[in-house]
Amino acid sequence: MAFKNPETIGLHGGEYRSDPTTTSVAVPIYQTTSYQFKNADTAANLFGLKEFGNIYTRIMNPTCDVLEKRVAALEGGLAAVAVGSGQAASAFCVQNVCQAGDNIVSSTDLYGGTVNLFKNTLSMQGIEVRFADPKDPKNFEKLTDEKTRAYYGESCPNPYLRVFPIKEVADIGKKHGIPLIIDNTAAPVICKPLEHGAAVVMHSLTKYIGGHGTSIGGIIVDGGNFDWVKDPKRQPLFNEPDPSYNGAVWGRDVPKLTGANVAFAIRSRVVLLRDLGAPLAPFNAWQIIQGLETVALRMKQHCANAEKVVKFLESQKKVKNVIYPTNHQGEIRDRAKRYMKGGYGSLVGMDLGSKEAGAKFIDNLKMLYHVANIGDARSLAIHPASTTHSQLNDKQLADAGVTPGYVRLSIGIEHHDDIIADIEQALAA
Ligand code: PLP
Repeated sequence: MAFKNPETIGLHGGEYRSDPTTTSVAVPIYQTTSYQFKNADTAANLFGLKEFGNIYTRIMNPTCDVLEKRVAALEGGLAAVAVGSGQAASAFCVQNVCQAGDNIVSSTDLYGGTVNLFKNTLSMQGIEVRFADPKDPKNFEKLTDEKTRAYYGESCPNPYLRVFPIKEVADIGKKHGIPLIIDNTAAPVICKPLEHGAAVVMHSLTKYIGGHGTSIGGIIVDGGNFDWVKDPKRQPLFNEPDPSYNGAVWGRDVPKLTGANVAFAIRSRVVLLRDLGAPLAPFNAWQIIQGLETVALRMKQHCANAEKVVKFLESQKKVKNVIYPTNHQGEIRDRAKRYMKGGYGSLVGMDLGSKEAGAKFIDNLKMLYHVANIGDARSLAIHPASTTHSQLNDKQLADAGVTPGYVRLSIGIEHHDDIIADIEQALAA
């Protein structure tokens, strides 16, 4: 049975009903590296992709499989590939379409780890990332050339919390045969990028989907809505024979083999996971499955609490500015309304006016944790100017969108009165 509602998908999405061997309702942790082949023919078929099944846990695992199917269902995609971290998911998304000499156009509004990956590591490997300000979606088109293989953005990036123009950029991509990849880490359940034309969604599962701050993980969801073979020159990795796989032409062969348009997911798995490693460990997949069961409920509470905190902060004289997706004006605000449903996320920024005030606020928090993380069930805070961005001068801070007094809050699911009480006493101090 296919479910539409995220509350149900978190518990029943995908194919898993109970363990086929033991009838266990809870998903078992298949802590195994390898799988006994039925016979030599089956083994040959599995390796030749004539049949799909378990071979080796670097490439697939039954616990990860349940997670993959559920997250794919949650995003409205056709297939998903779990990997060891959100960083691995971002890297794989680009490496799945680019080889040395190719480029992607990415939003400037990005998680810092993604900026490092794009500006430094991928560029050292010959993959160029061109940065476009998403304020005007046409900036993506301006930076496109014949070697552009993908567009990349984050649905709700901090620190600015300007929601990405998903349909606008996806439409430009469709004209040129370029898929849009969206990092939806900050907005599971409340934002559905595939419905607005994105081709691929990725998550750091470490954040809201895991939700309890226990496990690092990432996932890539193939929307199954992108035509990889329409313009063969635009997507050579999906249209030219792959010498590492008996000359497979992924864009052509995967739909034939599977009956589904899941070439992006299959190539991520059988080429990138095979060659680069970085699988999600079964135990982490299991922990994240526990989080997935309640993510829809938690997102409601995260969003409702964040809105209450925003209102409270707006009433405080010591707070110079409150940053939230709906606090922007004009088109940027309209995007939040268009692309987010049921809430605007749990990230809230506030400017306390000076570096000293920001640091002092953090030091006086009693319940909120001071950590470099987001999306935990617990409320979290960080002052970038004294931590993650402490090497930058005021001008560089401004370019990164963090004023010296900027504090980022990731509002948890505690009672809102307790969250506000802690913020209030820390502001007073
Ligand atoms: N994408 C976003 C938006 C993130 O916030 C993060 C981590 O903070 C990542 C990707 C990377 O995820 P991970 O820490 O799981 O590697």
